[in-house]
Amino acid sequence: MTEKEIFGWIAGIQHPGREDKTIAELGILQEVSLEGSSVTVTLAFPKRPDALKNYLVGAVKAAIYREAPEGTSVEVKTVVSDPAPAKKTPELGLDQVANVGHIIGVASGKGGVGKSTVAVNLAVALARQGFRVGLADADVYGPSVPMMTGTDGSVPEMVREGEQDLIVPVEKFGVKWMSIGYFASPERALIWRGPMACSALKQMILQVKWGPLDFLLVDLPPGTGDIHISLVNDIPMTGAVIVTTPQAVALADVRKGIDLFQNPAVGRRILGVVENMAWFTPEEHPSEKYFIFGKEGGERMADEFGVPLLARIPLVQSLRESGDSGEPAALGTRPDSLAFLSLASALTEAL
Ligand code: ADP
Repeated sequence: MTEKEIFGWIAGIQHPGREDKTIAELGILQEVSLEGSSVTVTLAFPKRPDALKNYLVGAVKAAIYREAPEGTSVEVKTVVSDPAPAKKTPELGLDQVANVGHIIGVASGKGGVGKSTVAVNLAVALARQGFRVGLADADVYGPSVPMMTGTDGSVPEMVREGEQDLIVPVEKFGVKWMSIGYFASPERALIWRGPMACSALKQMILQVKWGPLDFLLVDLPPGTGDIHISLVNDIPMTGAVIVTTPQAVALADVRKGIDLFQNPAVGRRILGVVENMAWFTPEEHPSEKYFIFGKEGGERMADEFGVPLLARIPLVQSLRESGDSGEPAALGTRPDSLAFLSLASALTEAL
């Protein structure tokens, strides 16, 4: 554990009373010092009383205890700051996505329906059709893009541009990839929560040097919590693609996912539904289809919501294997590969 690491654990803690700016941005975080296993953090507050002072002291302690090795002691000192304004770090603006044609969320009501598989293969398929494509893996709880694209272990470069440090995406298969998985070990990613997760996600989208793109896909975390509402509000998405499986279409989760985007306050389009694992095809009998989870669930749902059914992707063993081996199925010519190419065409048509 180093002072710099400790700084990194706590700099992003937000002040709920001050537009959710971070304690680093507000100049409250003054100093971190480490001696042996004792950490001392100095927080500076302006003269006027701050009702959330104790909350922030607690949040800093909790964040350090969560990360630090056992036996670490943490003291948080508070001092009165002078009125000089704090050094400002530049806000994350929309500059880096200004030259993106369409930002498209890939969402699902629940985990495990193949949302990341669809997002990765859709990106590859769009690139094969000649589009300039990026994908931001915003699934902080289980970033799977590095593994699915065989880019795990890549460490993105940082470049300084004006006032800002930008992250350079990892390029492979003609797609620019960005994932929180390039920065945090999977175990650590799991403990990102609430505001911390949210600001990390926005960085994965807004602090990346994407350059001009036709499509930026955002692989959203499953569910419909606060993180989603904040992301959908702050990121200028054209709309969303909802991934579901036949047995999940009846679930209220999917409906909630759709409502999240379509509610009038947010007003983003649902571009369509992708029915994943629509049927099972055994590897040795490629012409057979077994509708083990029921038939046409995706179609019914798309009808109900008045949105197109963009594609039906079969459940095939090789698709799982290509996810595990980092060679996306959409690179090939098998029936499941072609399903992703037709998904890409259906999406560009829907737009
Ligand atoms: P999610 O992002 O919704 O959590 P993933 O894309 O990570 O889901 O998929 C979960 C697992 O299911 C992965 O192992 C993936 O390879 C596998 N999988 C997804 N879709 C298919 C499919 N159509 N056929 C076979 N395996 C699939």
